[in-house]
Amino acid sequence: MDSFDLKLIRWQEKHGRHNLPWQNTRDPYAIWLSEIMLQQTQVSTVIPYYQRFLQSFPDIRSLAQASLDEVLARWSGLGYYSRGRNLHRAARLIVRDYQAKFPASADMILKLPGIGRSTAAAIAVFAYGERCAILDGNVKRVLSRCFGIEGYSGEKKNETLLWQKAEELLPPLDGTAGKNTKGRVEAYTQALMDLGATVCTRSKPKCASCPLQLECVAFRGNLVDKLPSPRPRKPLPSRETVLLVLTNAGKIFLEKRPPEGIWGGMWCLPEMAVSEDTIEHCKHRFGMDLRMPAQIQAQMQPFDHTFTHFRLRIYPQLLQVISVSSATVQHEGTSTWTTLDDALQSAIPAPVRKLFTNLRSSSGEKHG
Ligand code: SF4
Repeated sequence: MDSFDLKLIRWQEKHGRHNLPWQNTRDPYAIWLSEIMLQQTQVSTVIPYYQRFLQSFPDIRSLAQASLDEVLARWSGLGYYSRGRNLHRAARLIVRDYQAKFPASADMILKLPGIGRSTAAAIAVFAYGERCAILDGNVKRVLSRCFGIEGYSGEKKNETLLWQKAEELLPPLDGTAGKNTKGRVEAYTQALMDLGATVCTRSKPKCASCPLQLECVAFRGNLVDKLPSPRPRKPLPSRETVLLVLTNAGKIFLEKRPPEGIWGGMWCLPEMAVSEDTIEHCKHRFGMDLRMPAQIQAQMQPFDHTFTHFRLRIYPQLLQVISVSSATVQHEGTSTWTTLDDALQSAIPAPVRKLFTNLRSSSGEKHG
């Protein structure tokens, strides 16, 4: 009977994915970019972003030389912006400490910002053929089901067990069992990823076409729906905020967020506490006199944006600025007046993008 890895490799040859834009390359930079973009984001969403990003920044040097603004503008819309910031930091670090040569082992890759053990392993496997195990969310699910590992796979005890299993299952070292492992760890790793993404999916897995069906504990024990247990959910706390859409002569006022924290380094609408008075706030903070157009104001519906740790209720307010006092503090590079179209090309957070897209379509309707 075929070993675990051979079953997967044979299945992958016939049924796996072979032509994704980041496959068929050994370029560690391109592989790194794909692995980072694919964290928390689906393949179909990633593809156009990946291609545009590579066009703008084709190698480590060009990424390191770009400003954070340019990098985040290319990332804009993908979400989880700390990934873009870490990518940029890591590129600068690689240029400074490794003469722009990507680190050549999983252990060294792991030291870069924004890279965990599984991502470091995936890059090392695909770029260098290093024999190391991956354990992303999909692989955790496949192994939990196949080996009947109960409980939530993010729990420390389970995670240790799953890492052990992932290591044990790796294709043999060169020469052992008389088998040549050249290219085998790459094919095996891709197979695990493909199986998790296309067959052993979270809901409605396609067990009938799974190469692991015979040995799968969950399938044999009718436990597929029960393994792995979902993350124990605590209710998300909620917060609320006002986003000020300040307009003047066809332009919108944006502020740059501080580098750390939510939406760090991105261009954003000014925020204000819900309890504050809008007119007073804008007068004191920006030296702006406002008019609130009641009719337009009515079109701006509050909406929710969910972060990993809390839910944000956003109350947008569309306001016309009548005058800006000369005493207004507007620092070069940290605030700007911009058109809607230019704003949509910039690094803006997803809820601001949503607001602007709605604004653009409602102004299009009015003029259409
Ligand atoms: S048999 Fe079903 S549950 Fe088991 S590994 Fe395959 S797809 Fe997943």
